[in-house]
Amino acid sequence: MTAPDQPFRTLAGMRDLLPPESGRRRDLVATFAGVVELAGYREVQPPLVEELGVFLRVGEATDVVTKEMYDFEDKDGRRVALRPELTAGVARAFVQHHPQVPWKVWYAGTSFRHERPQKGRYRSFDQVGVEVLGVDDPDLDVEVVALAWESLRRLGLERIRLLVNSIGDHDDRARYVEAVRAFLDSRRGELSEAALATAERNPLRVLDTQRAEDLAVVADAPLIAEHRSAASAAHFERVLLGLDALEIPYELAPRLVRGLDYYRRTTFELVAESLDAAQNAVGGGGRYDGLVEDLGGPPTDGIGFALGVDRILLALEAEGAPEAQPVAVEVFVVDLTDGSSARDLTHELRSAGISADRRFGGGSMRSQMKSADRSGAQWAVLIGADELESGTVTVRDLRSDAPQSPVPRTDLVAELRRRGTTT
Ligand code: AMP
Repeated sequence: MTAPDQPFRTLAGMRDLLPPESGRRRDLVATFAGVVELAGYREVQPPLVEELGVFLRVGEATDVVTKEMYDFEDKDGRRVALRPELTAGVARAFVQHHPQVPWKVWYAGTSFRHERPQKGRYRSFDQVGVEVLGVDDPDLDVEVVALAWESLRRLGLERIRLLVNSIGDHDDRARYVEAVRAFLDSRRGELSEAALATAERNPLRVLDTQRAEDLAVVADAPLIAEHRSAASAAHFERVLLGLDALEIPYELAPRLVRGLDYYRRTTFELVAESLDAAQNAVGGGGRYDGLVEDLGGPPTDGIGFALGVDRILLALEAEGAPEAQPVAVEVFVVDLTDGSSARDLTHELRSAGISADRRFGGGSMRSQMKSADRSGAQWAVLIGADELESGTVTVRDLRSDAPQSPVPRTDLVAELRRRGTTT
């Protein structure tokens, strides 16, 4: 093989996540896991690739499925796809393993959508989320919405808005789709080409429009509230009552339908005020009571949400949250002999749980001390010919002018602990 003319780069819409940002992402997932595990959710990890059919259940009339899916034929001749979201895979796993209900799970992972890349919209992006299968109780909707809200707060976001709606049950939704279709048809002349095309495939999606010319029409569209059955209206009332009881501030969003087809009844979205309108949804979710059945399982109620990790980080930055700090080691070993001490001492320190690094390839005292400073370590441990001879090391505090002191090599771990390393 010959080298490429140009060095390889990431594909459009895909990014390398480098330190220190990668560490911040890991912390974000850990914080999220802490919040939802307190509520009894356990982690599930479905595969990145599934049979295409699993994802078609997300909605054959949605952009996510029709335009944005990374689907291909694998070497066995099967139609497969990289997951565009995790709910369908989790529901498929539920059908396959029939766990006890309620099944309360959380996930963190990457999804792929072939979207037009822009800030906050990538082709490979990360989400964290929860799903609960097997419970039809509006108080569960309250729990799930509260967890989404609480997670964002615990992650440090302050300027967020919670939008909630209920798009009714299966029959309500069907009636509503027809009402919206008829309405849009009656106003054809005033709608943009794009909106007309969307109306053909999925009339409800027109209600989500951001386009000024369509907004005026959409403002007159029928509301789902007029088409909700008594049962779904009662369910929704109980959800709102619960949010009031938990003092979670929400706004009713009668036109919030969400992008994916499987949603029923409660839908919600979390919007970061600090982000541009086109990419300001940091998360969303709702009930998807028909999905498990669509995947070949028994009728099962489901609800969940997904939060966009990339957008949460952008929103934190926009809100002025402190930037991710590089993680420093505690100790840097400077070996002015043949390097054997650096090799052995770093191993010994790490085995004792003290983070330690060194410079490879030797170098002068000056250049090794430069590396020690750059590492951010608090302590330098120096070994020269004298120390080697006397079985000692010299410990220097890099953050103060305190005099350095020799320590018997065998006491180094104890001495560092005494001086207050983190372990
Ligand atoms: P959705 O499954 O479309 O409801 O997405 C849930 C959340 O994932 C959204 O609110 C966004 O925060 C995030 N998200 C969705 N698509 C993308 C993308 N292409 N790039 C970055 N984040 C995304």
